Amino acid sequence: MKRILVTGGAGFIGSHLCGRLLAEGNHVICVDNFFTGSRDNIAQYADNPEFELVEHNVQIPYEADVDEIYNLACPASPIHYQYDPIDTIRTCMLGTMNGLDLAMAKDAKFLQASTSEVYGDPLVHPQYEEYWGNVNPVGIRSCYDEGKRCAETMCMDYHRQRNVNVKIIRIFNTYGPRMLPNDGRVVSNMIVQALKGENLTVFGDGSQTRSFQYIDDLIEGMLRMMATEDGFTGPVNIGNPSEFTILELAQLVLEISESKSKIIFKDLPADDPKRRKPDIGLARRKLCGWEPRVPLREGLAHTIDFFRTIV
Ligand code: NAD
Ligand code: UDP
Repeated sequence: MKRILVTGGAGFIGSHLCGRLLAEGNHVICVDNFFTGSRDNIAQYADNPEFELVEHNVQIPYEADVDEIYNLACPASPIHYQYDPIDTIRTCMLGTMNGLDLAMAKDAKFLQASTSEVYGDPLVHPQYEEYWGNVNPVGIRSCYDEGKRCAETMCMDYHRQRNVNVKIIRIFNTYGPRMLPNDGRVVSNMIVQALKGENLTVFGDGSQTRSFQYIDDLIEGMLRMMATEDGFTGPVNIGNPSEFTILELAQLVLEISESKSKIIFKDLPADDPKRRKPDIGLARRKLCGWEPRVPLREGLAHTIDFFRTIV
């Protein structure tokens, strides 16, 4: 049995990860300050003796006996990471540094949940790992984009200078059950709007693209990345390369939910990336043939079923 720490374990991705790690017979320590996480997300593990919850802010150093660390603590939705940008950048930097210090002290493996945002508004399409990105360092998304870039830098410096066994994954837009209804990201926003009979808000003209990955595919990729041979650090893109415009997404949500809502257009936020699609060649090669399995239509249907139970 491994002892595994998941920072941000009460969040959308973290709670699914905790569940999978418990199901595989591990002892799981979830560290979260509930900034965007929810107790409901982890309520089902509360009676499991192998699940420990530690309410703590990762900006402050902490101690735990662990074999592996998954570092997910960080708000991920633009409205949440822009709510208190200084706090976001502190979480990215201090949170990652504290996690790396713990990994070094315990000789534990450290997996960093990085993001496609490190590519910014990319000039190369699709995005492969060697592309260094096109990021505004002083914009409203920078606390997150540059925070996550700096976190990657710290991971590689702890690896080169202090021999920490790090693994970096760049997660592309991921959705699924347990997103919060007020999360603000496009999939949850549109599903909630469709189910409530409200207008679906498309920002800009809806021609910008994203490539949406269902949560189960991401969790599988994360576990496979943690299991790669020592010395393989990544970064590795984990995402679904099927690319959709935001307008196509809105139409799909309306169709699957059988909603009579209308689509309305609102201003595009500053620095909103125009196109995003992962090149997943490296993941396919290094993660034992890992491949996203859940098409958008199917994943949306599961996610809509979940939201029907809570809105
Ligand atoms: P989320 O907001 O649901 O989860 C983040 C969790 O971190 C929450 O439980 C929150 O309370 C916790 N947290 C935030 N700051 C903290 C702090 N200082 N100390 C302790 N806990 C803290 O978001 P998510 O979608 O589950 O994202 C998880 C991770 O994956 C994030 O690091 C995010 O950057 C990364 N990621 C997510 C996506 C995506 O599409 N969901 C894409 C790229 C990267
Ligand atoms: N978006 C939208 N309507 C919404 C929320 C978001 O059209 O209600 C757009 C947003 O401008 C962006 C895309 O959907 O172009 C994805 O936004 P999200 O916040 O989910 O993720 P990110 O921009 O970080 O990829």
